[in-house]
Amino acid sequence: MKVLFIEDDMIETMKLHRAISNFESKHQIIEAKNGEEALEILNGGDLPDIILLDLNMPRMSGIEFLGILKQDEKLKYLPTIILTTSENRADLLTCFEIGIAGYIIKPLKYEDYEAKIKKVFDYWQVSELIKG
Ligand SMILES: [Mg+2]
Repeated sequence: MKVLFIEDDMIETMKLHRAISNFESKHQIIEAKNGEEALEILNGGDLPDIILLDLNMPRMSGIEFLGILKQDEKLKYLPTIILTTSENRADLLTCFEIGIAGYIIKPLKYEDYEAKIKKVFDYWQVSELIKG
């Protein structure tokens, strides 16, 4: 799968790469450090199969990005999964209200993180994808 990974924390990006390197299937990760950068990539026509989105980021938060994405006639179909440490219920409700395909809370322990990410990738791999 082609995955747009929107995350400002480099450690988190390294963690994702480490996790998927252990998976049998190979995936392409496109990195964006914030919502603005992600929109530039998407508007450049490089559409991913799924988006993994952090919430707390500088310049443009995950929720702001999601709002813009869902207003766009072409981009609104991209399955977007929140990947966050925020257990804030208001965030959860806002994201589902705007439109997300999942809300994953990152476990602190690496092994738990990898296992959870694997389930997310396995699930989306068996799903029909938009193929923009
Ligand atoms: Mg962050």
